[in-house]
Amino acid sequence: MRRVQARVEGTVQGVGFRPFVYRLASELKLAGFVRNDERGVLLEIEGGESAVDGFLRRLAEEAPPLAVIDAVRPRDVALAGERGFRILASPRGGEPAALVSADTATCEDCLAELFDPADRRHRYPFVNCTNCGPRFTIVRGVPYDRPLTTMAGFELCPRCAAEYDDPADRRFHAQPNACPECGPTLRLLPGDHYGDEALRGAAGALREGDVVAVKGIGGYHLACLAGDETAVAALRARKHREDKPFAVMVRDAAAARGLVSLTDEEAALLAGRDRPIVLAPRLDAAAVAPSVAPRSADLGVLLPYSPLHHLLLADVGAPLVMTSGNVSDEPIAHEDADALERLAGIADLVLFHDRPIQTRTDDSVLRAVPDRRPLLMRRSRGFVPDALPLPVPARRDVLACGAELKSTFCLAKGSRAWVGHHIGDLKTYEVLQAFEAGIEHFERLFAVVPEVVAHDEHPDYLSTRHALALEGVETVAVQHHHAHLAACLAEHGERGPAVGAIYDGTGHGSDGTVWGGELLAGDLLGFERVGHLWPVRLPGGDRAVRQPWRMALAWLLEAGWDGPLPGPDARRSEQVAELVRTGVSSPVTTSMGRLFDAVAALCGLRGEVSFEGQAAMELEAAADAAGRGEYELPVTPDGVLDARPTVLAVARDVAGGAGAGAVSARFHATVARATAEAAASAASRAGLGTVVLSGGVFQNRTLLAATAGRLESRGLRALVPERLPPNDGGISYGQVAVAAARGGRAP
Ligand code: ZN
Ligand code: ZN
Ligand code: FE
Repeated sequence: MRRVQARVEGTVQGVGFRPFVYRLASELKLAGFVRNDERGVLLEIEGGESAVDGFLRRLAEEAPPLAVIDAVRPRDVALAGERGFRILASPRGGEPAALVSADTATCEDCLAELFDPADRRHRYPFVNCTNCGPRFTIVRGVPYDRPLTTMAGFELCPRCAAEYDDPADRRFHAQPNACPECGPTLRLLPGDHYGDEALRGAAGALREGDVVAVKGIGGYHLACLAGDETAVAALRARKHREDKPFAVMVRDAAAARGLVSLTDEEAALLAGRDRPIVLAPRLDAAAVAPSVAPRSADLGVLLPYSPLHHLLLADVGAPLVMTSGNVSDEPIAHEDADALERLAGIADLVLFHDRPIQTRTDDSVLRAVPDRRPLLMRRSRGFVPDALPLPVPARRDVLACGAELKSTFCLAKGSRAWVGHHIGDLKTYEVLQAFEAGIEHFERLFAVVPEVVAHDEHPDYLSTRHALALEGVETVAVQHHHAHLAACLAEHGERGPAVGAIYDGTGHGSDGTVWGGELLAGDLLGFERVGHLWPVRLPGGDRAVRQPWRMALAWLLEAGWDGPLPGPDARRSEQVAELVRTGVSSPVTTSMGRLFDAVAALCGLRGEVSFEGQAAMELEAAADAAGRGEYELPVTPDGVLDARPTVLAVARDVAGGAGAGAVSARFHATVARATAEAAASAASRAGLGTVVLSGGVFQNRTLLAATAGRLESRGLRALVPERLPPNDGGISYGQVAVAAARGGRAP
């Protein structure tokens, strides 16, 4: 006889772990108990030697699908002579570090019930079980138990309570368990319809071309028929000067294949339990309205992930636009009163319910890359709050405040880092509030008390100001592009050193200029700048970001062009040329994003943009897949990518009648070749074999695939972000990795 106590760490709460342990122990005729506590799951088993061994082996092997086991720590304890196996209640108090799981798409078992007329949950839009349903978005605190979720206000009816208490039931301790008797109720405004009537009313309105705000898992969506141009154009107009592509929700992967071209791997991602939006090449025959994704070669598709989505799609019988319920730059609406007010001018109807959303989370976005792992463009619902490991554990708890655009924060304790949900562009009071509330929530959930606070070197980012305003902490400034490099190394479990080609729109450089086309050699601790794009003026600062023609003009002047200058009229062109010559309000930049903007403008694609990176996105979309040829882009011996002849060649090519497709293809090939060449020579000088490709510009899969391919054909290893976005959404984790590595060296 033997008794073993085992602590199980990882994502083991709210995923059916205790009933699994109960069934396993019962099968092996072991006595003992299991319970959730603040650190995960604690269990004790007592029985014969071989049964105990078998239990410990099968514990990890047969764990339920949503469980992620980081560690099982068994130790022998004295025999207790106990009979039977029990599930004990969670204790209160102590330090919570138990991992809350991410929200998960409705499982097959629940779907079968949803569409079964004989089931008591037939057409009930809140059906869920231990294997599926909302988690992170409803959690208010830990341990993960119903009173600490937004389900606290719903008292279980006798039948639901019986399921909840039965270890053999699929809903044993399923915290959001509910049924039409006792759970949340759907409601439709105006008209004030409830339950199934609300659902049928919303579906009918959608079929007739109305815009309906729909309360989802992490916030409100705005929905309308994807094939109805009048409806989509109305939605676009009401969301205000919003040019960003809308995502389309379809019933299943087969329906998705009617809209976009998907590999089997991408189809599997689409149907995964995290249910991201997958951006993939749009088919010519795709029956979606032109206003869904104007000027984009890709279309974002996603599958239903809540029972409500499944019912809506089934009732409407056609693909639906599902876009964040917000006005342009504001955060997605998630609180009912706020949503009703803010979305009143956009939506014709509002379909909502009385289960509160604790934490707003946007849909996550993946982009397929040919022959490579897909890029995660936005990491939020379905992924958050899963922890990422740190290659150098943090000796003291760390908070990292990230950058400004596509902002995230990150908290770390030991070797675990929690990257928060996508917050948005940290430029307004509303977004700052969401950022601060998110940090507080994560600090509580994971019992992190930051002693070290990492931030960007940019003095004016609201994230930097937040960090510097905190009292009683040690602050660590991390250079922006170093953070990009460190994030990619760390997510792969590496410390470096490596060369990094870090290309983005903007980041505060160590020399005070605006960096963004950087070659670094470094590790988690530090870096050296070993190359960069040729510097030019950014005429008018931020205005040059919104008006790519300014960048085209700056580059042409820098390159000695003597032809006509771009601009809306001769007077404006001359004014901007004067800014470039004098340098007034025109900082120096090495931004690769701005070079892409300049080339997009030279191709006549776009003189003005409504969001950063839009011109570059359209330039990539225009690229002719069969395009051939390259432009000149020499790399100087000290690692400077001299794009002046490139810009001149582009301008001459366009003047000679070349189309945007051919120019774009040549330009992409040129930058990929020059980058691989510059990175390879930096790597050989430093004796390194790995090149990290990151920064927002590498969301461009044409550039990413071409550059990585060229590096690999030179015998180098290309390391690219997989678990976090290459854009600034990954910066906070990079800052944490740097702070932890530096903290490890402190006395
Ligand atoms: Zn389920
Ligand atoms: Zn019930
Ligand atoms: Fe960046």
